[in-house]
Amino acid sequence: MLLDGKVVANKKMEILKGELECIVDKYKITPELRLIQVGDDPASTIYANSKIKRGSKLGIDVTLEKFHEASPSELIKYITEANATPKINGVMVESPLPVGFDFQEVVNNISFYKDTDGMTSYNQGNLYTKNEMIAPATARAVVDILEFYGIPPGNACIINRSSVVGRPLGMLLLNRDYTVTLCHSKTNEIDRIARENDVVVVAVGKANFLGTSYVTEESTVIDVGINYVGNKIYGDVDFHSVGNKVKNITPVPGGVGVVTATDIFENFLNGLKYQVDKGLI
Ligand code: NAP
Repeated sequence: MLLDGKVVANKKMEILKGELECIVDKYKITPELRLIQVGDDPASTIYANSKIKRGSKLGIDVTLEKFHEASPSELIKYITEANATPKINGVMVESPLPVGFDFQEVVNNISFYKDTDGMTSYNQGNLYTKNEMIAPATARAVVDILEFYGIPPGNACIINRSSVVGRPLGMLLLNRDYTVTLCHSKTNEIDRIARENDVVVVAVGKANFLGTSYVTEESTVIDVGINYVGNKIYGDVDFHSVGNKVKNITPVPGGVGVVTATDIFENFLNGLKYQVDKGLI
């Protein structure tokens, strides 16, 4: 079966829109997500613009503060001010930051309930205690796809150990009774490990990395990779050969990416709910 992310994302957009409308009506607010970009990375600008577009469909005012140049301390001061501004309900720092910035150190200054990206150490740590109010959107997206298509919990192998994908996803799957193996560049025999798992999630950032030797006829393959070859996007899976062999597979584009773009706003909504519940706005 093709695990089409667009269907999952459309359903999720409907749910988020309904919930946001209720909050907007009740509290008479225009929710705002503030994006912060330092430098002029073209891919980062594209991602920011797509968040502005998707946010507007949900009635969220997504605003971009772009610094052509800023020091880490200036950026942290700006974040601190955004934390203290009640009309700003979410803050995201666009990556990459220029050389000389420590991304984790910077984002740790965002109030946990405005951490739309789910990248603060606080929110990452919460996943360990099954508090998933805010979680990295890519990890959420993988879970949403598995749940939407009724894939039952089993053994899952994740080829990635980053704090954007592998680590939080490992926790989300563990919280749903999966038995999880995290693989990385120092792991031996990943192909054998992957074949022994029901679900294989790959996010190494290499086009055609995962071929048929990593899968069986029973595998569910979730391709997180985004690789630009010329102006075309490819995942990490050799889609043609693997797709012909496995039970279920996500496409790229139209798989995890489109659900991730939506799940960012689930974090935003959950943070907004926290702010209204605690009387912070
Ligand atoms: P990252 O921090 O560079 O992590 C890559 C991971 O892959 C690391 O854990 C690395 O192992 C592992 N790896 C690299 N080469 C390997 C190999 N030959 N064998 C086994 N493991 C290998 O990147 P990331 O931010 O997690 O992103 C990974 C990919 O996902 C990229 O293509 C990115 O564009 C994509 N992505 C997609 C979405 C989406 O919404 N679809 C969102 C985020 C990221 P080590 O830890 O040992 O280095």
